Amino acid sequence: MSTTPDAIVVGSGPNGLAAAIMLARSGMRTLLREGQSTLGGGLRSTELTLPGFVHDVCSAVHPLALSSPFFRSLPLAQFGLEWIQPEAPLVHPLDGGKAAVLEQSLEATARGLETGGREWVNLHGVFARAWDELAADVLTSPLHLPRKPVLMARFGVQALLPATLLARRLRGPAGRALFAGNAAHSFLALDAPGTAAFGLLLGAAAHAVGWPIVRGGSQRFADALLAYFRSLGGEVQADAPATSLDELASARVVMLDLGPRQFARIAGDRLPAGYRRALERIHTEAKTLAITPELLQWLHATIQEGSGDAGQWKQVDNEIIELREGAPPLVRFRPVKVAETPAAIEELCLIYRHALNQSLAPPLVAVAALVFDFLCIHPFRDGNGRISRLLTLLALYQQGYEVGRYVSLERLIEESRAEYYEALHRSSEGWHEGRHDLLPWLNFFLTILKRAYRELDRLPA
Ligand SMILES: Cc1cc2nc3c(=O)[nH]c(=O)nc-3n(C[C@H](O)[C@H](O)[C@H](O)COP(=O)(O)OP(=O)(O)OC[C@H]3O[C@@H](n4cnc5c(N)ncnc54)[C@H](O)[C@@H]3O)c2cc1C
Repeated sequence: MSTTPDAIVVGSGPNGLAAAIMLARSGMRTLLREGQSTLGGGLRSTELTLPGFVHDVCSAVHPLALSSPFFRSLPLAQFGLEWIQPEAPLVHPLDGGKAAVLEQSLEATARGLETGGREWVNLHGVFARAWDELAADVLTSPLHLPRKPVLMARFGVQALLPATLLARRLRGPAGRALFAGNAAHSFLALDAPGTAAFGLLLGAAAHAVGWPIVRGGSQRFADALLAYFRSLGGEVQADAPATSLDELASARVVMLDLGPRQFARIAGDRLPAGYRRALERIHTEAKTLAITPELLQWLHATIQEGSGDAGQWKQVDNEIIELREGAPPLVRFRPVKVAETPAAIEELCLIYRHALNQSLAPPLVAVAALVFDFLCIHPFRDGNGRISRLLTLLALYQQGYEVGRYVSLERLIEESRAEYYEALHRSSEGWHEGRHDLLPWLNFFLTILKRAYRELDRLPA
């Protein structure tokens, strides 16, 4: 690109390519930079064994790409993309040399399952038949008004369950094996809340659009996206790793299609080392990290490294004080006393897990309450605010709200300091007696989340 680009996208995986196409379509001079010599990220294919034998090195089947309203809007067939629909989307081996077969037809699948066919159809049929509407609602940011609220509510109630629980609605090993295999795409333990969503989505998608593969390998999908991007005037640089945020600063829009480790590397000194390590762990291990007192102490030890009481509960009772110009300091809140702090944190973590496992509250309400109670306990001498933000990020990731990867929740809260303190103050009244009102805090919490999603959505049309 001879002049400075308006927009730079770093990383040429399917999400980076989609972002680059959106930006180029909006008229921005867009540069796509890829660190490797080959393009496509998780869509890469290569001859791993013998010449002429192409292997997909990462993603191979693309039901969600075929369901995505965005990808479907692109003229990719004109750029060489051709889908292959296998005769059966999915086969799962069973003991004794048998196999469970998921056919695209619901009825054929039910017949083949021998036992539990009717239950399979009951579980997947409604979502498979209304797949277009469901996919349009599911493959967008979680905070929006669903186009089909009843369908989404029906989906949500079941999707939030652990796969092990929803699988009880199926009978027989074959149906359960198919469901478990689909749910395992969450990369989570199957008894984790929300894993049922993957089972339902991948099963319903298989019935609705199949599990297509790309003729010639997934790389051809990336090649078609790249060719379309170039036809819009976009420029692509391979072997061009971004090494610092500063080198991207000249562009008006910078989008990073990167993992957290890669981001931390190029963010360099803009993040203090301890905070960077804490963020990196949350970003990479969110799905397996249990929210426990030990984890909170680890977060504190990591971000406060070098200070004498890093990782230790407070040793002196603390107060939350508001400093006012020309007036004496005002004690806003007296947190939990030193002697009661370890037990209070232990109880908070237990209650939070119990509330999620038993679906006692909608997950976002449970997360908001967790963060609020953490702040009321104020377990550390210093750094409670930053830990609460890390806890927010982690708990939201675990519930599938990933916006914090792209938009800084920390910044949004910082920009709303007055509302933040007001909400904390109003909700904390009567907290020690258990007669407080979570609503002001919940309202603030959801407003910040909504702002983050709005910011994320504010891509050029
Ligand atoms: C084993 C496995 C199997 C999977 N199978 C499927 C499947 O069958 N179907 C499916 O739909 N999904 C599948 N997935 C998920 C899918 O691969 C990902 O969802 C998808 O690749 C994410 O795309 P992305 O664009 O966000 O990132 P990526 O595809 O990871 O692309 C990121 C790109 O950024 C580049 N990069 C990194 N750092 C820099 C830097 N500093 N400067 C410039 N470039 C940089 C990387 O080289 C890479 O090309 C699978 C995932 C795994 C791990």
